[in-house]
Amino acid sequence: MKKSVSIFWFRRDLRLEDNSGLWHALTSDHPAVPVFIFDTNILNDLTDKYDRRVHFIHQALTHIQSKLASIGSSLHVLYGTPLNCFQTLLNTYDVQAVYANHDYEPYAAMRDNLIKDYLLHKNVSFNTFKDQVVFEKSEVMKDDGTPYTVFTPYSKKWKLLLQQYPVHLFDTHTHYSNFLPQSPIPLPHLDEIGFNHTDIVFSPPELDVLIAKDYNLTRNFPGIKGTTRLSMHLRFGTISIRSLVTQVLPLNETLLNELIWRDFYHMILWHFPHVVNHAFKKEYDSIPWRDSTEDFERWCSGLTGYPIVDAGMRELNETGYMHNRVRMIVASFLTKHLLIDWRKGEAYFAQKLLDFDLAANNGGWQWAAGSGCDAAPYFRIFNPHLQTEKFDPKHTYIAHWVPDYQEFSYPPCIIEHDVARKRCLSVYKNVLDTKHDKYNLQ
Ligand code: FAD
Repeated sequence: MKKSVSIFWFRRDLRLEDNSGLWHALTSDHPAVPVFIFDTNILNDLTDKYDRRVHFIHQALTHIQSKLASIGSSLHVLYGTPLNCFQTLLNTYDVQAVYANHDYEPYAAMRDNLIKDYLLHKNVSFNTFKDQVVFEKSEVMKDDGTPYTVFTPYSKKWKLLLQQYPVHLFDTHTHYSNFLPQSPIPLPHLDEIGFNHTDIVFSPPELDVLIAKDYNLTRNFPGIKGTTRLSMHLRFGTISIRSLVTQVLPLNETLLNELIWRDFYHMILWHFPHVVNHAFKKEYDSIPWRDSTEDFERWCSGLTGYPIVDAGMRELNETGYMHNRVRMIVASFLTKHLLIDWRKGEAYFAQKLLDFDLAANNGGWQWAAGSGCDAAPYFRIFNPHLQTEKFDPKHTYIAHWVPDYQEFSYPPCIIEHDVARKRCLSVYKNVLDTKHDKYNLQ
């Protein structure tokens, strides 16, 4: 006979501790079966089968599996489309309810609607909860009920709300006895789902208190380890944003603000979904981007002749990570010096970044291009030389990633800074001034 169960569906929340949807599944009326689906709709689009993210997920699941095995339960990992996998699950168990956490990206929303309809049709409820962010959707709004589009007032309201509604941690561990007792179900091997082993090593995350304390002093220098490097854990939910915020709160306000930026961009994506394909400020969609494959390829490969830009791109290509200061520099360089569409850079980052997150990536790119909400104004064009003097004065970062930067073989700069600056100002100004005039006339 099939066992009556609740299912908890892991997605961007790969941890047992302080997991909101899991807590609800564990406190439901039925024993909980934790499930993960290697979704072929996503995996089939990843052409490079050496993907550290897939390997990271696999290791995080193995970690969860070993914890569940120690308490006599098991994770159930499936491979296929979510719909097919739910059909399998409903054939295997007498599923009473499914629990999961909110996922705000467009594909995820579509997937969840499909699964919700399928489950409703089978008389199974689909219950989802906030987990990925501290405040979601319309929780932080202006007094007039409209969404914020500028960060500082948003962050002030966010902090006020946090005082009124301090974060609540979910004590999942006190309910572990409600996992369905069963012997471990083997996870599919990485090669069975078509992927290769990589050099990434998953280890449970923790906040480095010393870094957190000095964060405001160290965060801008890519040559030192001065940031938390927790972005991949936040992306896959191997750390809880709630417990991180409670730790960061007394330590460093600058770091707290970065976590608020994360909520901010999620909120922007939720209220202004057009940003996925279009400029937040629609007049920027009229900029005549240059279509130079050669320049784009030189940027991608870290061969622009600007050592700080090339260092960032080589770090990204080799490791899947890039320091935030350098992300801003390379993004500004592509969209302003080279006048190449921010969407091309965004897509390249999406393919390479281990911490790729649609909301933060899109927000970062539109910020750099000037087209985003609360973005860098179009006339603020980072000077790569000055950025280097300020943030990598001893060339520690550059020498590490571009050891050839002083050699004869190193490429000449792709375009002189002053020439690029003038060209950018004239192209942006031309479009934006015309648009502004047009809007003023209306
Ligand atoms: P820390 O400086 O230690 O910050 C702590 C955490 O705060 C980060 O892990 C991240 O979750 C959050 N955070 C920090 N800065 C930002 C920010 N500006 N916006 C949103 N969240 C932030 N971040 C991603 O997580 N995924 C992306 O795909 C991504 N793409 C970006 C693209 C561009 C062009 C730019 C300029 C920034 C992008 N960022 C992205 C933001 C930021 O660069 C990274 O979060 C950060 O570099 C990760 O390193 P860390 O964990 O050491 O960050």
